[in-house]
Amino acid sequence: MTRSEELFARARSVIPGGVDSPVRAFGSVGGTPIFYRRGEGAYVIDVDGRRYVDLVQSWGALLFGHARPEIVRAAASAAAEGTSFGAPTEREVELAETIVAALPSVEMVRLVSSGTEATMSAIRLARGATGRDLVLRFDGCYHGHVDGLLAGSGSGVATFGIPGSPGVTAGAAHDTVTAPYNDPEAARAAFERHEGRLAAVIVEPVAANMGVVPPAPGFLEHLRQLCTASGTLLLFDEVITGFRIGYGGAQTRFGVTPDLTTLGKVMGGGFPCAAFGGRADLMERLAPVGPIYQAGTLSGNPVAVAAGLAALDLARRLDPYPELERVATTLEDGLRAGFAANGIPATIGRAGSMFSVFFTERQVRDFAGAKDADHARYARFFHHLLAEGIALPPSGYELWSLCTEHRDDEVAQLLEAVRSFAG
Ligand code: PMP
Repeated sequence: MTRSEELFARARSVIPGGVDSPVRAFGSVGGTPIFYRRGEGAYVIDVDGRRYVDLVQSWGALLFGHARPEIVRAAASAAAEGTSFGAPTEREVELAETIVAALPSVEMVRLVSSGTEATMSAIRLARGATGRDLVLRFDGCYHGHVDGLLAGSGSGVATFGIPGSPGVTAGAAHDTVTAPYNDPEAARAAFERHEGRLAAVIVEPVAANMGVVPPAPGFLEHLRQLCTASGTLLLFDEVITGFRIGYGGAQTRFGVTPDLTTLGKVMGGGFPCAAFGGRADLMERLAPVGPIYQAGTLSGNPVAVAAGLAALDLARRLDPYPELERVATTLEDGLRAGFAANGIPATIGRAGSMFSVFFTERQVRDFAGAKDADHARYARFFHHLLAEGIALPPSGYELWSLCTEHRDDEVAQLLEAVRSFAG
């Protein structure tokens, strides 16, 4: 028995499924989840002492790899000065200023502790500000485990094929309208059907929870037009793309301006720190200025904020994005060539340092396409790579994330492992 197997057995008797978040359980790829002891740069080391190139990077949260010294030092020194005050601090203001300066559409921002909290709060704000109830979302996108946003979700909901979740009230489900991603006609039809009733459209500007599916040309612009024409707020969920696809997020890359934005992952430097922000006139509808309530004991937590500031400082000073793009392109080209050489149909979805492999020869534009890929083959691929010392996400519906510490050596190791994958 490995130490991971031992720990998993113990975990299962006190934690449902042995994990604190479902996809970690290896449910769709089979086998025992690997328990990690530590991480360094591009690598993680498990409790049995095995070392893996890590392409999960805490589900995209780590842009600079594990235990980046600047981030660790910033968090440690902040912790030594007090781990939580429940009162405002200078660094919170600095982090808010940094976010506002980075994202063109964000004039004001509020810090929270998770992406779920960010989307939940932004949706409440959108409803409160518009006086409307309905939210349009897209199949295969994931916005956290907010009641009204689960139907048709990607990530773990897709991995486990959960149609909806018990515990979500009919009312909450009723207030959610869904449409296929990258289908402008379906979005238009939803606006028509619910004319004057849509508070917000929430979308991942690059879908990354059904595997990576970039927006089709014009799709985001079309959503912007529909929203503007009908007084609906456009909410970009940039929890993954923010500070990962580029310093200014997907909104800068695609030149489309949302009304509201949610952030998480990279902006917290690997700590529980997230945010929602947008137009000042909307944000000032929040308490204590306005009547829309939102709060948090640990919001703007000083340790998380110090780590987030350190991460964003690195992102601004080092501008890692061109090099990430170069490494990602090498990997993408190599993967394509490697699968082709072995006669394995595969499509790569990629945007910047975010990507995923779909085992299908068809282009993947939406959730139906992502589901149509061969997920049993993904499971075999996952275990083949794991045996070669490479940790991929344990689901074909999740993104692979590069960090700045993935260099040509790690790419070469991965491509070598692809060459020996028979299918
Ligand atoms: N939005 C998106 C786009 C996400 O990918 C995620 C999590 N993967 C969330 C929201 C929820 O964030 P969290 O897990 O921090 O609650």
